[in-house]
Amino acid sequence: MSSRPRLADHALLRRHVTDGQLRYVVHHAGTGALVMLDERAYAIAMLADGTRDVDGIALAASRAGVYERASEIDAVLAALAGADLIAHGVEPGPMPARAATYFMTPADEASRATPLQALPGFRFRCDGGGHCCEQYASIALTRDDEARARRAGLKTLPGDERAEQVLLPLYGGVRRERLAMTLVDGACLQLEAERGCSLHRAGGPAAKPTACRLYPATFADLGGVVRVSTALECGCVFESAARGDDGEPLLEPSLRVAGDLPGGLTVRTIPDQVPIGAGATAARAAVVAWTDAVLAQPDEGCVVGRACGLAVALEAGGPTVRAAAPAALSTAEVAAELAEPLARLSDLTRRARDSADAWRSERDRTRQLRRAVAAAAHATSSRGAEASLQPAAPALAQAERFALRAALFGMHLVEASERADGLAASLRDFGAACSSPASWRCPGRGRWGTRSRR
Ligand code: SF4
Repeated sequence: MSSRPRLADHALLRRHVTDGQLRYVVHHAGTGALVMLDERAYAIAMLADGTRDVDGIALAASRAGVYERASEIDAVLAALAGADLIAHGVEPGPMPARAATYFMTPADEASRATPLQALPGFRFRCDGGGHCCEQYASIALTRDDEARARRAGLKTLPGDERAEQVLLPLYGGVRRERLAMTLVDGACLQLEAERGCSLHRAGGPAAKPTACRLYPATFADLGGVVRVSTALECGCVFESAARGDDGEPLLEPSLRVAGDLPGGLTVRTIPDQVPIGAGATAARAAVVAWTDAVLAQPDEGCVVGRACGLAVALEAGGPTVRAAAPAALSTAEVAAELAEPLARLSDLTRRARDSADAWRSERDRTRQLRRAVAAAAHATSSRGAEASLQPAAPALAQAERFALRAALFGMHLVEASERADGLAASLRDFGAACSSPASWRCPGRGRWGTRSRR
């Protein structure tokens, strides 16, 4: 190991209160590996900031009153290194505002004038129940969000009266351009017992983090336009879709181009070449045209069969207007398409449940949801896909159709298809999730959900 360790950028350090006990959880953003730290171990990990060797960490720990023996420091660093959570040396510069797969707002000169296009016909009404404030592994804030929250009065925990520990780095242990909120039994610390947001109550909606204010909007840059769709992880979204016109626009009317978006949002960048399936890629413009053609078609019928039929047509013909008509599949053929995705979904949700069971409180909504979703996915997988292909109840069928429309419009399935098997595989995964009701509402399914969408 290098002589100057620090938490790697892919280490997601989060401060949790679980059943009244303070603990620090470090997740690997890629593998999901997890290391739990108590307060002493956390203090040691924070002193490992890439500027100190182990002797320097021991000296700093001694000065901070958390040093007892060298083996304790070694044990903390070894546990983190064993989960691949350690990098070496000082962190390079500020976090990039633009990468191959996303850019952060405020938009730069290249994207400022790009128009925003919201999901047609969708209006959103929040029920105020606070469920979306208790189902994300990360509540992300920018430094501006932090400043506004502190002006409004950031709620803190006993022993941290100046709220110095409420926000930790979103990535790694050093950079503080983006921060993550303390969670209490899985819920945002700012969520009040009466279910409201303490920041909103004290300072109005503008006091909330930007990602919270614009929730549930998602953003995808398609080149000439930024599509604004909705996250599919909150009951209010589906209830709003079912209600129709009764709600607020997804975007305030004053937000017309990317340059109007407040800072702190992640806009996914759809690549020039989109993986389709079986190693094939297609030009982004062709995929967008295909998506529009799919969205223009009537969407009645079984969404599971439609998603699988679209996957088959897409693989056979590429993203052409002809492929926008789903292949007609028998029940047995749909079941065959779903066999592998269902097994994968069952495995994924089981591991997510086990991870939550290992340390989350019984009161934690994420744990409860993961259990419910894992049980549903396991039951579906055990029954077999064909036995699970029963017609959905009308309300559920309507929600599923809306989910496919929102996912296609917002290019969510392209986001999921960054892996090699592509958009067709994402469509099958979508079908598998719908055949196992509510699986697609599992928070952060397969990822560590972040309210900022990163
Ligand atoms: S800060 Fe955001 S996540 Fe936290 S309670 Fe307020 S609205 Fe909810």
